[in-house]
Amino acid sequence: MTGTMKAAVLYGINDLRVEDRPIPELLGPDYCLVKIGACGICGSDIHFLRHGRIGEFVVETPMSLGHESAGTIVEVGDEVKGLIPGDRVAVEPGWACRKCEFCRSGRYNLCRDVVFLACPPYDGAFAEYLAWPADFLFKLPENVSLEEGAMIEPFSVGLHAARRAGIRGGDWVLVAGSGPIGLCAIQAAKANGATRIIVTDMVPSRLETARKLGATATINLAETDVEEAVADLTGGRGVDVVLECSGTSKAVISAVEVVKNGGMVQLVGNFMEEMPPIPIQRMVERELSVSGLFRYVNTYPASVDMIAAGVIDLKSLITHRFALDEAPDAMMWVDENKDKVIKGVIEP
Ligand SMILES: [Zn+2]
Ligand SMILES: [Zn+2]
Repeated sequence: MTGTMKAAVLYGINDLRVEDRPIPELLGPDYCLVKIGACGICGSDIHFLRHGRIGEFVVETPMSLGHESAGTIVEVGDEVKGLIPGDRVAVEPGWACRKCEFCRSGRYNLCRDVVFLACPPYDGAFAEYLAWPADFLFKLPENVSLEEGAMIEPFSVGLHAARRAGIRGGDWVLVAGSGPIGLCAIQAAKANGATRIIVTDMVPSRLETARKLGATATINLAETDVEEAVADLTGGRGVDVVLECSGTSKAVISAVEVVKNGGMVQLVGNFMEEMPPIPIQRMVERELSVSGLFRYVNTYPASVDMIAAGVIDLKSLITHRFALDEAPDAMMWVDENKDKVIKGVIEP
């Protein structure tokens, strides 16, 4: 397909413009052209908008934002099998080399050669069209909406965290932070069999949503001491697993205290501005496991199935919807109304 499309392009700090760009070409016979139907606004998009960088990823040339997307296929390359125009798909936003040690061992999220949407220098999916390799597109069944398909991206982080932490039936889990990723982690922990899920945050409305989505107890950090509260809730034992989704020093330090002896602290949140002091001696003497996490891997097929089967609820995450033209204002507004918004979605 040729012609132009609209896209929301980041030119610099606080400078996002909706402009015409050429419709992207299929870069190979294994590519599809997807008409984007929904793309979530992520904290990382807002971070790029406000700071022009995330760590070592610096926006140097104009780049469109957005990586949590789903849409409808409008064109397929000659070698694409199993997908045809009209199919609705979730877009896994990072594709890898498929050849290196990490790709070959099933951990392609650790590949050094990943093309990731809206991660400089690659354009994102706040656009009308996206050309993408077919093996990173996942067909949605009829009972799964494009909005839900877009939410598989943040859910994947929660699912990967639950898997890496090795959550099993009957486990007690603490999820630190109930932003979008925390809310996904709750659902992933529950789907993996966790029976008690304690959730912390400072915002009462988020804790309420957490209870709706599977938290069995919530702790408001503004009012309650988390270590005492968890000791009360677990009879002094602590939880089997902490999923640290807040990216704050305080939460890491308390994670090391609220987890049981020999338990698992799964890091999920990113530490953008601060380097947490880690209580290493406590980790040593309590024989804790601490695990890192980078994005997710092999989560899309399972996530599609879990939505279709009603095991998880990603609809409830979406609280606000915007047109593509509104993207610049919408992103600012979402950033300024973090307490009200769980997820804002751009719908081109
Ligand atoms: Zn995201
Ligand atoms: Zn690779």
